[in-house]
Amino acid sequence: MSFEFRSLKNNMADNRVTRAGRHSYNTKSARIRTIRTPGGKYAAQKIKKTTKGPRCSDCKTALPGIKHLKSSAYKNSKKRERTVSRAYGGATCANCVKMRIVRAFLLEEQKAVKKLLAERASKK
Ligand SMILES: [Zn+2]
Repeated sequence: MSFEFRSLKNNMADNRVTRAGRHSYNTKSARIRTIRTPGGKYAAQKIKKTTKGPRCSDCKTALPGIKHLKSSAYKNSKKRERTVSRAYGGATCANCVKMRIVRAFLLEEQKAVKKLLAERASKK
């Protein structure tokens, strides 16, 4: 081994990592990310699979503002990561809640108008 080659080898950072856990293959469920530790070494970190997250109960779109976690992980998450502070927050999207409110309001208005008309008809 020549001197030049040895010095080159010593200067090269060892960026290889040992896979975390016992899984040997880089499959969809066992992906790793290489991270640099404070000591300057490289280590493997497991990447968790992402989920589709909670959906709106009416239109089935992904709810904004809510983390996409596994259902078991919601138990240990903060409340602000699970919900939004609104009626039906974390279950129904804002547009669908707005529609529900408007619909309920219009139904009540219709009832009031019907009652008024019935009163007028009975007076005559
Ligand atoms: Zn919706």
